[in-house]
Order: sequence, then structure tokens, then C-alpha cells
Amino acid sequence: MPGERVRCLVLNSALGPLDYRVPAGMRVEPGSIVVAPLGPRQLLAVVWEADRLPAETVGDNRLRNLIGVMDAPPIPAPLRRLVEWTADYYLAAPAAVLRMALASTSALDGAKTTLEYRASGQMPERMTPQREQALARIGDRQGSVRELAAMGEVSDGVIRGLVKTGAIEAVEVDLDAPFSAPHADFAPPALAAEQTRAAEALREAVAARRFQPFLLDGVTGSGKTEVYFEAVAQAIRSGRQTLVLLPEIALTEPFLTRFATRFGCRPVAWHSDLRQSQRRRAWRAIAGGEALVTVGARSALFLPYRDLGCIIVDEAHETSFKQEDGVHYHARDVAVMRGLFEQCPVVLASATPAIETRHQVDLGRYAELKLPGRYGKAELPHLEAIDMIAEPPERGRWIAPKLVKAIDETLGRGEQVLLFLNRRGYAPLTLCRNCGHRFQCPNCTAWMVEHRLVNRLACHHCGHAMPTPRACPECHEEDTLVACGPGVERIADEAAALWPDARSAIVTSDTLWSPARAAEFVRAMEGGEIDIVIGTQLVTKGYHFPNLTLVGVIDADLGLEGGDLRAAEKTFQQIMQVSGRAGRGEKPGTVYIQTHSKEAPVMQALVTGDAESFYAAETEQRRDADAPPFGRYAAIIVSSEDKDAAHAAAAKIARAAPDITDMMVFGPAPAPLAMLRGRHRYRLLVHARRALAVQDVIRDWLGALDWPSKVRVAVDVDPYSF
Ligand code: ADP
Ligand code: ZN
Repeated sequence: MPGERVRCLVLNSALGPLDYRVPAGMRVEPGSIVVAPLGPRQLLAVVWEADRLPAETVGDNRLRNLIGVMDAPPIPAPLRRLVEWTADYYLAAPAAVLRMALASTSALDGAKTTLEYRASGQMPERMTPQREQALARIGDRQGSVRELAAMGEVSDGVIRGLVKTGAIEAVEVDLDAPFSAPHADFAPPALAAEQTRAAEALREAVAARRFQPFLLDGVTGSGKTEVYFEAVAQAIRSGRQTLVLLPEIALTEPFLTRFATRFGCRPVAWHSDLRQSQRRRAWRAIAGGEALVTVGARSALFLPYRDLGCIIVDEAHETSFKQEDGVHYHARDVAVMRGLFEQCPVVLASATPAIETRHQVDLGRYAELKLPGRYGKAELPHLEAIDMIAEPPERGRWIAPKLVKAIDETLGRGEQVLLFLNRRGYAPLTLCRNCGHRFQCPNCTAWMVEHRLVNRLACHHCGHAMPTPRACPECHEEDTLVACGPGVERIADEAAALWPDARSAIVTSDTLWSPARAAEFVRAMEGGEIDIVIGTQLVTKGYHFPNLTLVGVIDADLGLEGGDLRAAEKTFQQIMQVSGRAGRGEKPGTVYIQTHSKEAPVMQALVTGDAESFYAAETEQRRDADAPPFGRYAAIIVSSEDKDAAHAAAAKIARAAPDITDMMVFGPAPAPLAMLRGRHRYRLLVHARRALAVQDVIRDWLGALDWPSKVRVAVDVDPYSF
């Protein structure tokens, strides 16, 4: 209504919600995306219900007019509720959460087509090293000139030159091109009895539009995906949308193909690697309701689905669902809240559910659907520990004799091997044997990791990198640098020395950085072009290679270092997950776990297969410590480039801690990464009983304090490590 006062959440503004006046001739409703004036600037904003978010009151005479309304569907009410809940629960600014919902403001511009550039395959007449490098980096990736330049770290000018020669061609892309509609009954499988029972429960909840979280709990290869596909099919039949969250973008490619086999076309994908034009097209189709199934990374959780009928979180135990910067949130938990606001079922699928999730089942809040065994003829693999103290590898080697023998035999049978080590690069630490100098990142409390394939030392936290020097920077002696400890590249070297004829592939985020690369890896594995895969956690999930029969875990103790309360659970999940890659077809699988702590309960649980006792013991430990899921933690991270300022602010916050029974404050202590990207970090750990509304306490506590602008204070509610 013109003249009406409306409350708006303004993007990119540190201020809270602000009131505006609707000028004559403009129509808005709650959820409308509008342009609002703020000082001299014009910013995007969303119209909110006035009674939901408190704003500073402004006299009518000081109200400013809205400037315009975007030609885009409004942000639906359930998503507005989700923005409020997330901001409230995770102590974030509502505008920062809303930014995730609008995803890319370019989604809102009016253009209908755009020009995209891609390599044509035709070589330019005059080749320069820069051009050659640009073409190699760009490969088959597409994007605007600017995006291509950023992706390949090459200059705009070089790319423009290549466009002129025809080596890169411009293609006009229709931004409103519709997505194909998946077909619920394109190729339905014949489900096994347990699968049918589970699928039936999901179908019923989707059809009834009922909020209900489900834990779909089944060992790797038990056919969970086929089961939740039935929930997707039901949503498609009702014309409602589905969101499938996946933990790892590299996994999307095989998943998309599998989806297409079942539903006749690929779903809409949403992840950070999308080009601007794809992002715009997907956002519009999702908001308009035409995109029936979206498969995405955690950020897909905040998109404006018009009518969401089902949410799936696959590999729900995965740590990558926890966002650690910007708004700190856990996508698994936010997914459940979104299901509540949308009134639809939420399916958490996992072979190794988190203790928190199992606890919700025990409390009766989540319904459990169990798939007991592997689907079809496949058997679970046989797990065996190798005692690295009793049967160590040869000096300077990392693969123990028993595993060497098993690899020999496996390769002899023409089957495939996976060696798992969750460490990228060649060696985690490089030092000078003459003077003892160690290469440390100048910006972080972390060693520089040698990447021998590209001849660089790199920090895995901030990306700082340098060419590997020949001489020690400290004592200037040449050729004195030694690599300490193994990374995947070093294991690959060892494998090459032991099995010179075997074809091996390293699979990490360095080698599988795009969906196209992931697809190429899958093709090579399926085509039998790879004998030995050496990989990080990236290979532990989602893949199904029937000829892969042996898995070797190079260092099972890696995750136990640091010793926080989650270490054993995480180790269990990771090793179960990687074991799940072995023997998925007709041939049985074997897993060797190299460990120095064979007697540790987690190693025992793995080899005996007694997950239940392990979970029970871990849960008791948590109960004793009143740790999650019983008690609650929140971390307050205080950071600054100025170490003293960070420390002073952290100390001030600690001194002002309210004295409340049911709550304890530990610290400040240096945060787990004491320095990160040039900022010194201190952490206060708040421990609270469940009954306490700890967010309200922290909000009041921090709200009454101030600190210099160079200090940043972030709150991480339900932090991953405690
Ligand atoms: P999970 O998701 O539990 O690891 P998947 O759904 O990937 O298990 O199933 C494992 C394998 O078994 C896949 O190759 C899948 O295609 C196959 N499979 C599962 N259920 C069926 C079924 N009902 N009919 C045919 N193949 C199935
Ligand atoms: Zn660094």
C-alpha cells in the first residue's frame, strides 16, 4: 500500500532492520526484494513482517522512500523464518544470513542472455608460453573472460588475445533456458524388502506434508541412495521440490549421473564452482519452483525454494557440513529447522551417524530407518589392523610388509587398490638437516607443506605458497632440506618404486578440483585404467568401484592426535567410510588399518565390527563430561592482527563473564590455530547445561562490551572441536 511503513532487512548493512515508506505506485509484500536507500548508497533489501524483527524506530517525517522493487520472486515465509532462526541460534547478523539466501545479487539482474567463453580446441597460430599456460589451465572450463582469468590465474589480456585468434570462442547463453523435469517413474529399481519398508515410510511423510526428521542408517553399500530416491520421486509426483545436500562437490558428478539414470535427467546443481550465469539461472528456477530437484553444497540450504517437499542430507555425519567462517552454522541442524518451517520430512542418511544424531533418535525426535546389510551379493569387507610397532615397514618406508603382500596379490588378480592417507602433498614438514630450520607459514601457526609435483611449499590454511628453495634460508647450505613424514605424493612414490608397472592416481582436492576432473577419474577407474589410487578423504565417499577390493589405511592414528572429545568418533567414521569403498561388487573386500595403537577402543571397534559398544562407550564419556549432545559448548573467538589487542579484548570479555550456575567459561587460551591468515586468535570456551538459553546470555554479555575496531569477535555455537 503506498504511503505504508515497511520494515526491511538491508543487505551489506551492519545496522539492524530499518523502516521505509512505500512510494506511490509501488507494490510490495513481505518477502519482496527491494532497493532501499542507506545514506548515499542504494542497497538490496527484503521486506519483513514488522512484528518479527525489532528496528530502531524512526519518526514518520524521517522515513525514506523505497527506490524500487526487483523483478524476482519474493523470499518465501518459511525461508524468512529460517533466516531469523539461524541468526538467533548462531548469534549472527540477520543480514549476513539473508545474504546467503540471495546467494548472488547477479541472480537479480534483468539480463536474459550472456556471452560465455570456452576453449574451442583450435590452437592459435602464434603460441606463447603465456597462451599455452592459459589454455592448459582453462581446459574445458567455461565462464566470462573475468571468471576464466580468475580460475586459471592468467591475465584478462591473454584471454582476450586468444578469443581474437579463435582458440577461445564466445557462445551466447540463454539465462532463462528451462531445466528438464525429472520423471518420477523413469527407471524405478526393484527394492529389497528392507529398502521397501524404509522407502514406504519416507513416501508417506512426503505425501502427508509432515515434518519429520529421519535417520536413514545403513552400512556403506546398503542402498540408502535408492531408498531416499523414492522420497524424491514422491515429491516429484506431488509437484513439490527436493533439496539433496552432499558434503563434497567432487562427489557431485557421479551422483548427477546416477540421478539421471533413475529420473531421466540431471538435477539442478548448486555449489561454489558455478559460473555467474549458471548461478543466476539456477536461483531463478529454484525461486520460481521449476527446478524440482536441487543437489547442492551446504549453501543450497538457504535458497528460496518455492515449495519444498523433502530435504535429504547425505553422509549427514560429515564435518564439511559445519561452516567455520562467516556465519558459523551446521548445515545438518539447519536442514532440520528448514524442514520444520517448510513442514516437510528431512532425511539424514549415514553409515556412521554422529552421536548427536543417534541421541535424537534415542529421545524419539528422529525416526530411525535401518538397512542392515549390503545390497545384493556384496558383503561387508574384512577389516584387519596392522600393528606398526610389531610389524613396522622398512626404514624410510610407510607401507608395512603385510600390506605390501596384500597389494601384490590384489594387483596380481587384476583388481584395484586404494591407499588412504588424509594428508595432501609430499610431506607435512620440511626441515634443514644442517641447522634445523623448519618452514613455517608467515601467516599461520602451521608448517609449510611440500608439494613436490608442482615444486612448491604451501600453507594449507591460508594458501601462502613459495617455490621449494634449494638452499636453506637460514644457514644457506644447499641440498640440506629433508622431508619429514608422508603425504599422499610420498606414498605414490613408494608405490611406484614397489610396483613400477602399476598405474596409479593421486586423488586430492589438488588433483580433483573440478566436476570434470572427478568425472574423468571415475571413467578411468571404471575403465580399469588405474590400479592404485592414493587419496585423501575425498576418495572415501560416494564412489562405487566394483573392482576395488583392497583398502590400506596408511596412518589410522592421524585423527587421534590433538585428542579432543570427538577424535575417536571421527576416526571411526572416517575409517568405516573408506572401508566402504572395498568389495562393493561381487568380489569380497579387505581393509588393512596401519596403527600404532592397536589396543585403542576405536581400533578394536573397527576390527570386531562392534559399532554399538563403541558408540555406547563414547556416549557415556560425553555424558560424564556433560559434553554434547548432553551439555552445550559455544566458542568465542577473538582475533586481530595485533596480538596484544586480541589478548586484551579476550581478557576483557573473560572478566565480564556473567556468574551463572549452569555455565562455565574457560580461557582465554590461544585458539587451536593460534594464528590464521595473519590474525592472532584467542578462544574462550563456554560450557553450558542444555537447559540454559546460552545464546541469550552471550548476546547480553558481549552486547554490553566494546573493543577496538581492529579486533574481531566471532561466536561459534556448537563448535566442532571442544
Ligand atoms: P549406500 O548409499 O547405502 O552406500 P547405494 O545406494 O549406493 O548404497 O547402493 C549400493 C549399490 O547397490 C549401488 O550400486 C546401487 O546401485 C545398488 N543398489 C542398491 N539398491 C538397489 C536395488 N534395489 N536394485 C538394484 N541395485 C541396487
Ligand atoms: Zn598460512
